Amino acid sequence: MQTDLQIARAATKRPINDIAARLGLTPDQILPYGHDKAKITHDALAGLTGPEGRLILVTAINPTPAGEGKTTTTVGLGDALNRIGHRATICIREASLGPNFGMKGGAAGGGRAQIVPMEEMNLHFTGDFHAITSAHNLLAAMIDNHIHWGNALDLDTRRITWRRVMDMNDRALRDVVVGLGGAANGFSRQTGFDITVASEVMAILCLSRDLADLQDRLGRIVVGYTRDRQPVTARDLQADGAMTVLLKDALQPNLVQTLENNPALVHGGPFANIAHGCNSVIATRAALRLSDYVVTEAGFGADLGAEKFLNIKCRLAGLAPAAVVLVATVRALKMNGGVAKADLAAEDVAAVTAGCANLGRHIENIRSFGLPVVVALNHFDGDTPAEIAALQDYCAEQGVQAILARHWAMGGAGAEDLARAVVALAEQPAAFAPLYPDAMPLWDKIQTVCTHIHRAARVEPGPGVLDQLAAWQAAGHGHMPVCIAKTQYSFSTDPDLRGAPTGHVIPVREVRLNAGAGFVVAICGQIMTMPGLPRRPAAEVIRLDDLGQVEGLF
Ligand code: ADP
Ligand code: MG
Repeated sequence: MQTDLQIARAATKRPINDIAARLGLTPDQILPYGHDKAKITHDALAGLTGPEGRLILVTAINPTPAGEGKTTTTVGLGDALNRIGHRATICIREASLGPNFGMKGGAAGGGRAQIVPMEEMNLHFTGDFHAITSAHNLLAAMIDNHIHWGNALDLDTRRITWRRVMDMNDRALRDVVVGLGGAANGFSRQTGFDITVASEVMAILCLSRDLADLQDRLGRIVVGYTRDRQPVTARDLQADGAMTVLLKDALQPNLVQTLENNPALVHGGPFANIAHGCNSVIATRAALRLSDYVVTEAGFGADLGAEKFLNIKCRLAGLAPAAVVLVATVRALKMNGGVAKADLAAEDVAAVTAGCANLGRHIENIRSFGLPVVVALNHFDGDTPAEIAALQDYCAEQGVQAILARHWAMGGAGAEDLARAVVALAEQPAAFAPLYPDAMPLWDKIQTVCTHIHRAARVEPGPGVLDQLAAWQAAGHGHMPVCIAKTQYSFSTDPDLRGAPTGHVIPVREVRLNAGAGFVVAICGQIMTMPGLPRRPAAEVIRLDDLGQVEGLF
C-alpha cells in the first residue's frame, strides 16, 4: 500500500496559474511562490465584492487515537463537489512545523484525498508561521527593551503576560529566565516560550479582515500590567506598526491544489483549545466570493472545534454556514464505546452502538445552532457491514443521514453521495444563530457553553476568576465571545471519559484576555502550549533520499 507521501509525490500538479484561473483570478492577482503555491494579493482580495457561495463546515466526534479524518473528508468532499459540477474551494489550516518532528502525522489530508505539495505544506510552506514568530518576538523584545531603558510605562515585571514563541517542540523552553548576565543585558525576569500556533498573533491574523484591522488588533494586545494593575498594550509600546509590516505578506491567503487539481486555500493555524482553531477569515471570505461552495474544517471534535468556529469565527466575521458534516469512523465509535486501541480490528457491533452516544450528542449540539447536519462515515478497510449498519440505524433513529464515504481510497469519486447530500441540505434555508448573545456577561457565556455543549452539571470558578471577569466586563470587554480551553478527548475535563458523560463538573482554573484577537479564554484543566518531543522523535528517521526527496516525514 502506498503511503500518503508516495501518493502525494505521484500527483500530477497543474501550474498554479491554472488553479488561479479556475477561481477567475488573473496572473497579476496572485503572487507565485514557486510553481505550485501562490498568495492571493491584497489588491485582488479588496476587489472581491460579488455574492458569496455556501459555507460547509466539517467537524467530527470526539477524537480518539483511532483517527477520524476531518481533513481527509474536507478534501474528499471538496473534490466530490467539483466532480458533480459545483465550483468548490477547500479552506484548511496550515500545519505547525515543530510537531512533525515529534510524532504527529501530516495535516494535508490522507490517501487519495490530499492537498499538495504536502511536504512543503508541512514544513516552511510560504513562511507565514515564521513571520508570525518574528512579529510575536519583536513585541517581546520591545517589552524587555522598554524596561531596560527606564520603563516609562511602569510595567510590573512580575505581571508581564506576553511570552516568546518558536515553531518547535522544545520542553526545555517552557520556563526560562531572561536578562541574566549583568546590567547591559537588562532586568532579569522569569518568562517562557510557547509554540507559534499558540501565539495570540496567530489568532489575530486568522480573525483580521484586512491590514488595517490587523494593525488595530495587534495594537490592542495586552502584554502585561502596571504596578497599579492597569493593562499595557502593544500600542502603548508602539509595536503595532512594525508587527504589521512583518505580517503584511503572511496575511495573504495561500492557494494550492488537491490531488484532483481543485483549488484549496491553506491559511493560518491557531490552536483549537486556547484559540479558535480554524483557518483565516480572509481565506474563507475570499473562497466564498470565488466559488459556489466552500468546505472548511474546525479543529478537534465538534464540542471544541465547531463550537468555536460558530461562536467565535462566524460571530466575529459575520459568517453563516449552510450545513455541517459530522465525521465519524467505526473505529473511533468503537473506542468511544469502550474498546481499547489494540482490539479495534475485531468486529464489535455492540461497541459501535454504545459509541454512538457520543455522535448523538454532537448531532444535538449542532442542531442547537439551527444548522442542518449530515454524518460522513469515513470508511476504513476493516469496517464490517454489520458495524456500518449499526451506525446507519442509529443515525436513522436520530433523523440524520449517514453517508458512507470512500474518498480516502477513491478520491472525490468516493464521496459523491456525500456531496449530493450536502448540496441538498445546503439548499434548504438554515437558521444559524450563535449559542449566546454578545450582551450576555462573560461568566454566563462560559457557563452556557459548558452546560449546553459540554453538558457539565456545574461550572466551578477558581480563585480570582469571577473578580477578573468582572474587571474585564467593567473595562468594556464584556461583549467578547469566550474560548473554552479543555481536553479534546471528552465532553468532560477527564480525557479518559469517552462516550457521552453526564454529571461532570468543569473547573475554570484561570481566565485570559486576548484583547487583540477579541475573545476571553477560560482554561479548564491542564493545557500544553509548548509540546515536547517523544522518547523516539520522528526527527530520528527524517532524511533526504538519494534523489533529494524528503523521507520519513509522515
Ligand atoms: P483529522 O483532520 O481529523 O485530524 P486527518 O484527515 O488528518 O484527520 O487524518 C488523520 C490520518 O488518518 C491521516 O494520516 C490519514 O491518512 C488517515 N486516514 C484518514 N481517513 C482514513 C481512512 N478512511 N482510511 C485509512 N486512513 C485514513
Ligand atoms: Mg485535520
